[in-house]
Amino acid sequence: MSTSWDEASRCPRDGAFTGKVTSRKVIPRSQGGGQLVTLVCPEDNCEYSEFGWTVQIRPDNTIPDKQDPKDRPKQFKNTMTETAKQAVRDALAQQVESEMKPGTEVRNY
Ligand SMILES: [Zn+2]
Repeated sequence: MSTSWDEASRCPRDGAFTGKVTSRKVIPRSQGGGQLVTLVCPEDNCEYSEFGWTVQIRPDNTIPDKQDPKDRPKQFKNTMTETAKQAVRDALAQQVESEMKPGTEVRNY
């Protein structure tokens, strides 16, 4: 699952305001690649106007869904067997590998 930049760049509190990009950190390919973009809310009274929030952009320019701990199904962690955990780790390792293909350009938003 992924979310759009339009959605991710909107203030988590107001929703209506689009944040201003204040910094853009490129993640080295050895750490999976992609970018971490920090945004602040243009609304002065907003709690996000000072420290802002961070949006992760994957090397393929998709944005992972916001990770809200409240939204995560609780049983997910408890019912995972060691075999299932290993399968997830393998899948992730494979995904990282395929994302590190040479020639993948990081698009600037
Ligand atoms: Zn705001």
